[in-house]
Amino acid sequence: MIRQNCVYCGNEITARSREHVIQNAIGGLYESTDICCPQCNNYISKYIDAPFTKIFNPIISQIDNFSKTNNTKSMQPCTGKVLYHGNLYSANIKAGRVVACPDLSRTLRCDATKLPLQIVSYDFNLENAAFQNGMNKIAFNYALDNGIDLNILKHGLNVTKASDKIENISFNYPIVPFCALNPVDIQLELHTPFLPYHSMILFGQNNKLWCYIDLFNTFQYYVLLSDKISAVHKVYNSYAQTLQKIDRTKPVLDICSPKDISIYAQQYGVEPCMDINEFSKRIYNAMDRKSQKTSFSKIIGPKIRYLSPEYIINGQHSGNELVLFGQSVRLYFNEFDQLNTNTFRTMTYTGDARDVVSYPEFINYFLQTDKDCLRNYARAKFETLNYFLCQRQK
Ligand SMILES: [Zn+2]
Repeated sequence: MIRQNCVYCGNEITARSREHVIQNAIGGLYESTDICCPQCNNYISKYIDAPFTKIFNPIISQIDNFSKTNNTKSMQPCTGKVLYHGNLYSANIKAGRVVACPDLSRTLRCDATKLPLQIVSYDFNLENAAFQNGMNKIAFNYALDNGIDLNILKHGLNVTKASDKIENISFNYPIVPFCALNPVDIQLELHTPFLPYHSMILFGQNNKLWCYIDLFNTFQYYVLLSDKISAVHKVYNSYAQTLQKIDRTKPVLDICSPKDISIYAQQYGVEPCMDINEFSKRIYNAMDRKSQKTSFSKIIGPKIRYLSPEYIINGQHSGNELVLFGQSVRLYFNEFDQLNTNTFRTMTYTGDARDVVSYPEFINYFLQTDKDCLRNYARAKFETLNYFLCQRQK
């Protein structure tokens, strides 16, 4: 069904505009033409998306072959910390280079940017309204694009209009930060090679509608879109994409016999045919279709080989942890080591490995007594990201 009226202003949608569910400036590829009118789309991109994506400037400039842009001229400056003779200083950084370091320059009375400064971390401001709005918008759009009725979501959307002109749009859904609470998630997130990707999971659970969002495999949050959905309302969908461009160099086909055709057909996953022109067209089309859009199974599945109970034993955890490890592996992976997509990130075991519970609700419960756990997890994720970004320093 195609939406007739804009979800923000309510006016009839007379022209279709493409709205990026995950903001295009941070490499998001998922688009929907079924959400709002072009005017509101402009408003959202200017006042919600732009301030939100600015937070991620340090990452955008440091990923090789980033799907959006790698043009140094278009890279926005950001801030971070540099190390000089054992001390940390705040610095302005552009495209991986220090462009200003006022405190150090003042102390040494010279232009500190000429010194060998080592960038050790980047700053991300996650405490502001821009972050909240941006995350909420992603969840809201993803739910709408999955056919969730606007009436279920309306309570978290504020639109102010003055004589038919939009004055303000904001979102206020509660957000729960993700924190790995079982040994499998801890290993997956903190002890496997880092690959930046974006993902979303929309799921209904205990009358609640959640959207899990993971940006750059670092900024991980649950957005609570509704706590009043009916229990029979079965919702589950997920999305994942990588962030680096795919090499689409067209191969030169060397076809001398029908056997070559069948080999190529297998290699590129296309139907064989004897008309060489038509056959090359099929291969080139298949290459164009090859996508950064992938799935959780493809991203998380290969990580299973890094999972090990040995790691827990060396980490001097109790025997209980070992049971929890085994239970969690069985919760997330089937007997063929494939990911159970509908339990991954939606469910976890309680600490005593007895009950399977809602992940976001368990985190909420856990945070009431133990905030250190989240702080330590978030710090470890940022260290991984910063290591990845600073490694690329020129
Ligand atoms: Zn509108």
